[in-house]
Amino acid sequence: MLCKRSSGSISSTSIPPVSRIPLLSLVALGASLSWVGCGGGDAPSDEPAGAAGAAAADAPPQFETTEVAEGVYQFRWIGHNALFAVTSEGVFAFDPISVEAAATYAEEIRRVAPGAELAAIVYSHNHADHATGAEVLREAFGTDVPIYAHANADAPLREAGNPDLPPPTTTFDETMTLAGGEIELHYLGRSHSDDIAVGFLPAHSLAFAVDFVARDRFGYQDLASFHFPDMFGAIEGLLEIPFETIVFGHGPPGDRAAIERQLTYYRDLNAAVRDAVEAGLSEDETAETVLMEDYSHWDRYDDWRELNVRGMHRKLSAAGDGEGDEEGEH
Ligand SMILES: [Zn+2]
Repeated sequence: MLCKRSSGSISSTSIPPVSRIPLLSLVALGASLSWVGCGGGDAPSDEPAGAAGAAAADAPPQFETTEVAEGVYQFRWIGHNALFAVTSEGVFAFDPISVEAAATYAEEIRRVAPGAELAAIVYSHNHADHATGAEVLREAFGTDVPIYAHANADAPLREAGNPDLPPPTTTFDETMTLAGGEIELHYLGRSHSDDIAVGFLPAHSLAFAVDFVARDRFGYQDLASFHFPDMFGAIEGLLEIPFETIVFGHGPPGDRAAIERQLTYYRDLNAAVRDAVEAGLSEDETAETVLMEDYSHWDRYDDWRELNVRGMHRKLSAAGDGEGDEEGEH
């Protein structure tokens, strides 16, 4: 997979120091967001994006906007994250998340970038729990605001015909540059779905990647929508992009090491379950014996470890070649 960058290569000296997040602040940011993903609001489509749910007294606020680089913000709504960037051509906003979230998202964009126009909406992928709500942003900023997405997002959204989740107005296949190269979109192949657009902001060495990677967190439930072995190539492709900080669709931001750990996890899961399949273990037996204990400190270990193992068992059993790949439901 090529990860061409149209704006030329970056050297470390070309990155203004002010735009880089000092390690300490990144750690602090991660710490302050570390509850994201294990908090309330668990009422899923792909992952929960709905009502706040029954909030405990010490529950985090329903939403939060955090500056992750100069002029670049993570917008968190319950357990989902979006990213928006103030560029020379206006604001580019990834993932409206939901109708309800998008109303607050619009207010937050106005609050941190008063007077700025919304240049475009970008879908990280077509799943409703991240992409719903574009019309709310358009009502707030202008009904002609374009929507960018990977080409594979177009057909399912046209087919679904959901007015709250309109199809993209412009699509791309491999890479696309926005705002004169301030933002790049990269397609890295099939992973969590077949239409993931990874955002990259070269001047900030910052990436935005949704659902196929996260920081120390298990994959969603039984990995039904995930494509293996293509996942490995997608994560390797992500590591070819020269980011230093990465914002995820769920959970706290991470760094390159977080992506290395994510790749190692899926390789370990794949290998352990393949061994079990080759030894003739049933799905139930595999779920009882492949405990992935090296990852017991990861987010969602208690509820998604077993489901990850079961899902991988199904993929490998179905494939019959030790690799595994199948079309999954969202
Ligand atoms: Zn998804």
